Amino acid sequence: MKIYVGCDIGGTNIKAGLVDVDTGSVLISKSIPTLSRQGPEEVMKRMAELISALMDERQIDQKEIGGLGISAPGVIDLETNTTLFLPNLYTEWRNIPVGERMKSYLGLDVAMLNDVRAITYGEWVFGAGQGVDSMACFAIGTGVGGGLIVNNQLVLGFDGTAGELGHQTVDLNGPLCGCGNRGCIEVFASGPAIAAEAGRGIRQGWSTKIMDLIDNDLNKLTPKVVADAANMGDAFALEVWNRAGTYLGVGIANILTCVGVKRIVIGGGVGKAGDLLLNPIKKVVKERVHLMPLEKVDFVTAKLGNDAGTVGLAAWVARQHT
Ligand SMILES: [Zn+2]
Repeated sequence: MKIYVGCDIGGTNIKAGLVDVDTGSVLISKSIPTLSRQGPEEVMKRMAELISALMDERQIDQKEIGGLGISAPGVIDLETNTTLFLPNLYTEWRNIPVGERMKSYLGLDVAMLNDVRAITYGEWVFGAGQGVDSMACFAIGTGVGGGLIVNNQLVLGFDGTAGELGHQTVDLNGPLCGCGNRGCIEVFASGPAIAAEAGRGIRQGWSTKIMDLIDNDLNKLTPKVVADAANMGDAFALEVWNRAGTYLGVGIANILTCVGVKRIVIGGGVGKAGDLLLNPIKKVVKERVHLMPLEKVDFVTAKLGNDAGTVGLAAWVARQHT
């Protein structure tokens, strides 16, 4: 058994797990609050303690671990394993030598990745992307992240910035996105965007089952409720999903036309809506893509759920430190 560690530094939680990279199974994993207001040094210290505690609990010695993969939500120098800009963390972690510090704490070789690229890699090696040499992966939640595999390689681009599939422009004059651009996929298809679109329609007086499901309290409006209503056949809720899926579909049509991937994987909490998103995506792609054999392209939901990042990071560091 070859054991590697995957660890994600999130805006809310740090999650670490020990992974058998022969099978992709997570042996043990645990989350703790990030508490980023304590600053990077404190956070990294607690991260090392978390990983040590997992090793102790499974009685696995540091010598039996092949390496440590770490992901973070932002821009990372992949050569030096230094964070350059993590916009959602306090102090933004500019020029923090995460790899060096974690190696000094744990004695493990480190490789870093952006968080959604780690999910993409995990789904490709052990999840919904198994068996294809090219795929595009979306992780849809609070934002819309992405990643690309082309010719059996995770596409990194310079400074690891490639793969921001959710920040493609799909409407020239669309709403402002958190990234600074207008009309990104994210402003139409993220969880908050879907809830907001449903809320707008309800305030305009559209008739929908959603109001019964949330006891007439708009504060309880979530993408999950909109999905529940749509699955009950509610025409308004179906239209909300249709709109989000249509914008996603335009972006996916562009990806297919540009790089010709064989599989599209839709993940993240919002991705659980499944066919509510996949059906409009397939429809739009069929309307817009004419220069490749679409019958060879699969559209699927992600398989690994919350473990995708952990497993992907372990596989990623294993590839570089065997
Ligand atoms: Zn954007």
